[in-house]
Amino acid sequence: MPDAALGRVARVEAWALRAPIATPVITSFGTMRDRPAVFVRLTGDDGAQGWGEVWCNFPGVGAEHRARLLIDTVAPLVTGTAWTGCEVLWRALDRRLAVLALQTGEPGPLAQAVAGIDIAAWDLSARRAGQPLWRHLGGEAGRLGVYASGIHPDAAVATALRLHERGHRAFKLKVGFGSDSDARSLRELREALGEGATLMVDANQAWAPDTACAQIQALAPMRPLWIEEPMAADQPPEAWARLAANSPIPLAAGENLRGDAQFDAFIASRALAFVQPDVGKWGGISMCRGVAGRALASGAGYCPHWLGGPIGLLASMHLRAALGDSGWVEWDANPNPIHDRIKDRLPKPCEGKVTLGGEAGLGLDLDMDDFGSLVTWRGQHRH
Ligand SMILES: [Mg+2]
Repeated sequence: MPDAALGRVARVEAWALRAPIATPVITSFGTMRDRPAVFVRLTGDDGAQGWGEVWCNFPGVGAEHRARLLIDTVAPLVTGTAWTGCEVLWRALDRRLAVLALQTGEPGPLAQAVAGIDIAAWDLSARRAGQPLWRHLGGEAGRLGVYASGIHPDAAVATALRLHERGHRAFKLKVGFGSDSDARSLRELREALGEGATLMVDANQAWAPDTACAQIQALAPMRPLWIEEPMAADQPPEAWARLAANSPIPLAAGENLRGDAQFDAFIASRALAFVQPDVGKWGGISMCRGVAGRALASGAGYCPHWLGGPIGLLASMHLRAALGDSGWVEWDANPNPIHDRIKDRLPKPCEGKVTLGGEAGLGLDLDMDDFGSLVTWRGQHRH
C-alpha cells in the first residue's frame, strides 16, 4: 500500500478533555468515572491542518499525562523535517523513541501519542489532496458496518433496545462478572433481540487460561459471533491457538497487542477469527492498515477497536471502509458528553451500517471552544 505525502509540520497542538458522567463505565478490570480524550492537531507549513486522537482511557489519570508527553517529548521530533510520507513519519518517531520507551517503561503511552500524531498526519494529507480519508487510503466506498459496544449487564436489554432504535443491529455485551450472571445476561439479550441479532461478548482479559474454556462453554448456547479477550493478551499465541481449538465461540483480540511482530505472531497462529487493532493505541493509520491487510489476507476478520472520542471513531471507520465493507467497527454506546457536543456532525448508523460523507480527510473540523470547560490541559509546540 503506498504511503501518503505529508511535508513539513509547523505546529503540533494537544488538548486533554475530561467529561463528567452520571453512570460510571464499568469493565471487568476497571471503572471510568468520567470520559477522557486527547485530541491532536497538526498544522503544515502551508496552513493545512489534520486532527488525531490518542487512546487514554486507563489509568483514570492518564489523559493529561499523554497530552503532555505528546507536546513535550514527541512533538519536537515532528516539526522541522520535510516528511516524504505519513508512514515515514511514524517509522521515524518509533525509531527515535525506542530507547526512551525502554528507559521510561512507557512504551504504551509513547506509542499512543505517536498513533494520535499519525492519524492527524493522514487527515492532513487527505485534506490537502481534497479527498475523504477512505478514498485517500485507496478505498472504493465509504460504507461499513458498526456494532454497539460497552453494554454493561445492568439494564443490558433496555440499553440494547434503545440502541436498536438508533439504528444498531449488532451488540457487544461486557462479561467477566461471574459465570452465572454472564450467561443470564447474554440469554436475556438473545431473547429480547431475537435470533437475527448479531451479538458479541467481551471478557476484557478476565479469565485464567485454564478456566477460560469452561467460561466460554457457558456462553456458547446463545451463539455470540465472538468472545473478545477471554484471557490476558500477553498469553503466547500458542496458548491462544489452543484455546481457539477448544472454544465453541470464535476468538477476538487486538486492542492490547502492540507492534508488527506481536500482531503477526497472532495472525500466523490463526488463533483469532477477528483481529482488532486500535488506531489510537498503537500504529495509527500507517501501521494498523498493514495489520488489517495481513489479517484479511489470512482469512481473519478485521474489526477495529475503538472506545474513545469522535476523531478516533472516524479514523477507525475510514480505515475499515478503505479495506472494503466487511466486519464491524466498534461504536462506543456508553454516554460520552464529548461526543454529544458535536453529535449532529457525526455519521449515524442505519440498519447497522454507516455511510461516510465525501468531505476531505476525516470530514470533521473542530472548534475547541465547543468543548469549553471540558478541556483540562492544552499545549503546543511550534517549530
Ligand atoms: Mg475489548
